Amino acid sequence: MSFSKLGLSDPILKAVAELGYSSPTSIQKQAIPVILAGRDLVAAAQTGTGKTASFLLPILQRLDTERKLRGKRIRALILTPTRELAIQVEANVAGYGKYLNIRSMAMYGGVDSEPQKQQLLAGVDILVATPGRLLDMLYQRALYFDELEVLVLDEADRMLDMGFIDDINKVIDRLPAERQSLLFSATLTDDVRFLADTVNEDAVEIALSSGAANKPKIEQWLVTVDKDKKSALLSHLISHLKWDQALIFIEKKHAAAKLVSQLEKRGIKAEAIHSGRSQASRERVLTEFKAGELGFLVATGIATRGIDIDNLSRVINYDLPYQSDDYIHRIGRTGRAGASGEAVSLVSNDDFKNLCAIESRLGHLIARKEFEGFEVKKIVPVSILNYVPKNRR
Ligand code: AMP
Repeated sequence: MSFSKLGLSDPILKAVAELGYSSPTSIQKQAIPVILAGRDLVAAAQTGTGKTASFLLPILQRLDTERKLRGKRIRALILTPTRELAIQVEANVAGYGKYLNIRSMAMYGGVDSEPQKQQLLAGVDILVATPGRLLDMLYQRALYFDELEVLVLDEADRMLDMGFIDDINKVIDRLPAERQSLLFSATLTDDVRFLADTVNEDAVEIALSSGAANKPKIEQWLVTVDKDKKSALLSHLISHLKWDQALIFIEKKHAAAKLVSQLEKRGIKAEAIHSGRSQASRERVLTEFKAGELGFLVATGIATRGIDIDNLSRVINYDLPYQSDDYIHRIGRTGRAGASGEAVSLVSNDDFKNLCAIESRLGHLIARKEFEGFEVKKIVPVSILNYVPKNRR
């Protein structure tokens, strides 16, 4: 099937073709006609499935009218959990909307708000924002919702995990009742469905079937290792398996800096991004990593939400995340849009509970590999697959 069958206009088709997309992904085939028809939508689709284009393309088409924008008004609002995702989604708007006259903007906290206020003065067609900064701006009357036509909650499950529910509700309360609402989430948990019911009316629900065609091709494996040997093992894997690129997830920001220096001592150039670094240096490091100038990026989970890197071949869980959904999100960074990828976890004895939760969530054990010289003193037992973590809500 080609994009031209979906009812999209020529300028959009041209931009999509230039990006090299030859056919729509499954979520795009299903969601684009629904959104173009003006319906509300709830979609279970994780990162890597092409979900961003599935809502941006029809929204761009809807907003491509002669209407004159009033000052401080926005026509479409896309809420994202992190600034990285906001930046990424807005970059996609610019790409897909290359041949349209659409004003877009990414708005997020942690940076001076003055330039953002200035940008809002003339009005914005598509605003991609994180909830906290958006509310700030609203309270300061830097923007008004009275002309809003479309709301998108992107990565809704993640926004809930990050505790944004109150902020989201405050925003929703202030939106015009007459609007189109779209919600995207990797998983449709009870909490997400509850949120969907508050924002949507009579929504069409799309859940990607778990057929093989939709599954990113991600090879998952793990190595059990004693905690104090993790950095040595990682260096060994990088040189022994001739890896040239990896996004390495780590839990704590001080540990990220330490790992970078341990890798550098072994001649492996790496950089860290975490919430303690300035936005400017995070962006610089990300750009270098995306351009392939930097091979190894060590990142805390929160800093990496929304990072969209084409052809990322590998993610490493230096630590296992506490939430099994985070594992799914992390490995979703690789194997995107049909490409193959690899997700490798370094698992020590104290990661065992997290491993049980993750393998229970996956419904299968992750293959284990062993490397000479890294035999463990503290064994990591085989998981019980019906494990339910205590902290689960
Ligand atoms: P997303 O799931 O929105 O994070 O998108 C994952 C990646 O797939 C992004 O890098 C997109 O640029 C890319 N992508 C989206 N749609 C297509 C398509 N139809 N064909 C090829 N790549 C795509």
